[in-house]
Formats: sequence, structure tokens, C-alpha cells
Amino acid sequence: MKCIFCSAPLPKTGLNCNYCHKLNPLNAKLFESNESVISEHLCPCCDVNLEILKSPTLTLEYCKVCDGLLIAEEEFEKLIAYNINPLSSFNPYYLRFIHDHPRDNRKKSQFHPCPICKELMSVINYKKSSGIILDVCEEHGFWLDGGELQQIIEWYAVGGEKKEKNYP
Ligand SMILES: [Zn+2]
Ligand SMILES: [Zn+2]
Ligand SMILES: [Zn+2]
Repeated sequence: MKCIFCSAPLPKTGLNCNYCHKLNPLNAKLFESNESVISEHLCPCCDVNLEILKSPTLTLEYCKVCDGLLIAEEEFEKLIAYNINPLSSFNPYYLRFIHDHPRDNRKKSQFHPCPICKELMSVINYKKSSGIILDVCEEHGFWLDGGELQQIIEWYAVGGEKKEKNYP
């Protein structure tokens, strides 16, 4: 993947370009909003106010600093469905690559508070074996760290779901 600002190759983990040092908002690329309002909720990673982004079909809270986002479960399903290409092809090497290169380098043992209720979120391995580790608040949905939404879409694109079905 290339840096959207300078076209240099992006590092395999993380979102910061090694050349121009800008953060690539990979999650943000996947939704368009026509309305944004400053939220009273804080980013669990950077402590800045989130922004509430709205499109005609969905609402989520986004952090401009780290590209993280909070999204309710139903909204998350919609967003995924909208971005999935049904013509995915099975690529076990790329699935392994995704598994081994989390976008977020945070150790899985660090728990973050939910931006809304402040309860510590639990962590799940998305679809059990993708290697993409998401934070979950039972009540308020998923916290996706910077770039993780992009990774989930890639995971579907290289047949992650087929793998689940064929090799449970
Ligand atoms: Zn760059
Ligand atoms: Zn943040
Ligand atoms: Zn919550």
C-alpha cells in the first residue's frame, strides 16, 4: 500500500509514512460523510474529542488524530457489506500476511475504555482467526484502531470468509 500523500510505500504495520511522516487515514477512506459534529466523547487512544460523522446511511464517531472509529454493531455490518466485493478470490498468503501484520501495534493485553460508557472494552479476534484484533463494548459496538477497517475489507477481498467455511 502506498502513502496517499507522497506515494512512498507504507510500512507493513502502522499508518505513519516513513518518508513524509504523515498519518494515512485508511479507515476514513472507506466512508464518506456529509456532516460532522464534534462529539463530547473522547478517543480512547489519544484523549481528543471524537467527531460524529454522518452520511445518509450511517453514523459513527471518528478520531482524526489516530484514524480510529467507534461504530455500532449494525452500522458496522452495513459498512462492511457496502465495501465488500463479492468477487473475492482466495489468497492464503495474503490472509497470513494480514494475520501477521496488525495495523495497530498495541499489545493485545492493553484494554481501552469505551468512549461512551467508559467501561473497559473486551478484545476479539475478528471472525476468530483473522488476526485483526478489535475492541468491543457490548452496548456501544466496535472500536476500530487506525487502518483496521481497511484491513477487514482486505481480509474479505482475499477470501477470509471462505477460509472460515472451508477450514473451520
Ligand atoms: Zn508519505
Ligand atoms: Zn485517536
Ligand atoms: Zn460502551
